[in-house]
Amino acid sequence: MPNTVKTMKTIGLVGGMSWESTLEYYRVINQYTKERLGGFHSAKIVLYSVDFAEVESQQHEGRWDDLTRLMIDAAQRVERAGAELLVICTNTMHKMADDVQRQIRIPILHIVDVTATAIKSRSMKKVGLLGTRFTMEQDFYKQRLIRNHGLEVLIPEEKEREDIHNILYNELCLGEIKEPSKRTFRAIIAGLESRGAQGIILGCTEIPLLVSQEDYKIPLFDTTTLHARAAVDFALE
Ligand code: GLU
Repeated sequence: MPNTVKTMKTIGLVGGMSWESTLEYYRVINQYTKERLGGFHSAKIVLYSVDFAEVESQQHEGRWDDLTRLMIDAAQRVERAGAELLVICTNTMHKMADDVQRQIRIPILHIVDVTATAIKSRSMKKVGLLGTRFTMEQDFYKQRLIRNHGLEVLIPEEKEREDIHNILYNELCLGEIKEPSKRTFRAIIAGLESRGAQGIILGCTEIPLLVSQEDYKIPLFDTTTLHARAAVDFALE
């Protein structure tokens, strides 16, 4: 049989933030590669997985400069190992994506751009954003959605943001899926919908472990799946 398969670029992943969601990236990337190419095909992947304990403590101590150095080091390791594009497997750590990009030659596939493309393809303008406190409250994520993509972004109220943050770090990043937390998300998503959100960004790569589209009418933008699939599309371009 003639070999009609296109060459696929090697996908570089910086993961481990947390490994619970990196597993999903690995699964989705390979599953979608198989969907696109068929047969025994799977993706060429280089993964550098960090120790999340180091990352989490520095995040909560506000040591973002140290974390930027850590992310640059991780990205350079992935590049040296032969990756041809870089996927940072967390929304929060896109905070330093521009600094990382300046220190490597391979392109970063930015999670915000991928997510915004999906939102705009459904002609939506106003979306709710769920994620860590860093993602919901700081500018790096929202402003890219607003400035680069012309979207309107709603975030939950203060107490709700705290609840989400605690569920993410105290449960989901530790692999714990709890029913009461599902209800917390349900109430928060309903609140955003009543404020006019047309869709909801699951802007933390662990949220899809707890919240899934089949339980909701409002469109949910699962950043883990969108980002992983976009990596495959990019690698096959
Ligand atoms: N995976 C999460 C995210 O997408 C949070 C963990 C982290 O701080 O990187 O933001």
